Amino acid sequence: MAEPEAMSLRQLPAVATVLATAEATLLLERHGRVATTDAIRQAIDEAREVLRAAPATAPSATELAQLARERLEARTPGLRPVFNLTGTVLHTNLGRAVLAEAAIDAAVEAMRHPVALEYDLDDGARGERDDHLRSLLRELTGAEDATVVNNNAAAVLLCLNTFALGREVVVSRGELIEIGGAFRMPDIMARAGARMVEVGTTNRTHPADYRNALNEYSGLVLKVHTSNYRIQGFTAEVGARELAAIADAAGVPLLNDLGSGSLVDLSRYGLAKEPTVRQAVGEGARLVTFSGDKLLGGPQAGFIVGDSTLIEQINRNPLKRALRVDKLRLAAIEATLKLYRDPDRLAERLPTLRFLARGKADIEAQARRLQPAVAERIGDAFVVEVGDCLSQVGSGALPLDTLGSAALIIRPRGSQSGLERLAAALRALARPIIGRIADGALRLDLRCLAEADETLFLAALAQLDATGLAARTP
Ligand SMILES: *Cc1c(COP(=O)(O)O)cnc(C)c1O
Repeated sequence: MAEPEAMSLRQLPAVATVLATAEATLLLERHGRVATTDAIRQAIDEAREVLRAAPATAPSATELAQLARERLEARTPGLRPVFNLTGTVLHTNLGRAVLAEAAIDAAVEAMRHPVALEYDLDDGARGERDDHLRSLLRELTGAEDATVVNNNAAAVLLCLNTFALGREVVVSRGELIEIGGAFRMPDIMARAGARMVEVGTTNRTHPADYRNALNEYSGLVLKVHTSNYRIQGFTAEVGARELAAIADAAGVPLLNDLGSGSLVDLSRYGLAKEPTVRQAVGEGARLVTFSGDKLLGGPQAGFIVGDSTLIEQINRNPLKRALRVDKLRLAAIEATLKLYRDPDRLAERLPTLRFLARGKADIEAQARRLQPAVAERIGDAFVVEVGDCLSQVGSGALPLDTLGSAALIIRPRGSQSGLERLAAALRALARPIIGRIADGALRLDLRCLAEADETLFLAALAQLDATGLAARTP
């Protein structure tokens, strides 16, 4: 005796039947056999669960193929482009620097064609992959030589491991930083095989503290630019120039980890001063490390510049091979560095600097221009106003300096939960819009919305289901 439930279960089409539908043919072409079969099987399993719970008509093969399609096409790629309206220009969670067009073109060319990566075109013999960047970095920083690795964390690790494996590294207690993503100086030292010798106190470190700690076991003196915090009040630190002299007298190299490090004086673009790499080299540090995707505005990379004998030793370390940079990034780095040869046009060509240097009046004018369309798209359940806000540089650079900016400030007419729902709906768009909720409002800081992207932004917003949002907002 067949129960109605058992009947409908038996009516469920088999995987092969669903695969034979026209709908599935399309899926096979688009997503391949493995993913399509998998999605169909899951759709059938789900339908079976539903039928077990409550007897109903079984879905047809075509309907199951459609369910499989929704499943496949909802599987959004992880690296989706988003609108960064958080107000943080170098947002680590959103990929830090957006690259310059020249860098993008260079990376694309390097993907499309064979490149002379480790090939010397003059004599047709094997070359060095870092050679392409060496002379540029020498020119831009004043250092004797340079090498490049995966990121600045790798640059520091490689320096520590090259010069202080089984030896001591002298560092001030005021500079034992932790950077987002669990990069903690003491842990990196341990992994590099170095023994950390802390000197001074959290707020004050004196020249004698370093002098007393240096001995025949010292491999390196480390100075870390406290990029993401400041120690203020009753403080003392030993400047890089004085520390370089102390290290030199002991015959131990000084490594100055700048973190962000800039290749130009940012004050000429209206930003706060951040030590430039050229300054750090000039102050006598034997090695200077800095990031590629922070203030420099390039792809993720870590640079080590300094004395050529030391750079040679670094390049001979087998870890260098494990931390090396691929051709795409090398191409993008080279193109980015070349832009620095023309500082007058840098702000116009390098998105990071363009966003950072954008004046408040310009951003505010953009906000006024977009406000009516945004208000209309977001619907009557919210009020959209133009207001002041403060942007941040991000990635730990210039942590105390905020940049006056303008935002679209969105407040719910009803309950606050409407705001969370709106933020979630904006994140769920095909091209997600990421803002920041603070003080009962969702703020869309427009600093990083290029004028050329305004149409795209409004098009993305047009997909917002404003009636749905209004219906759920009491
Ligand atoms: C950011 C930072 C690092 C790490 O650089 P990544 O490029 O993110 O690996 C190291 N040291 C300092 C001082 C930093 O600010």
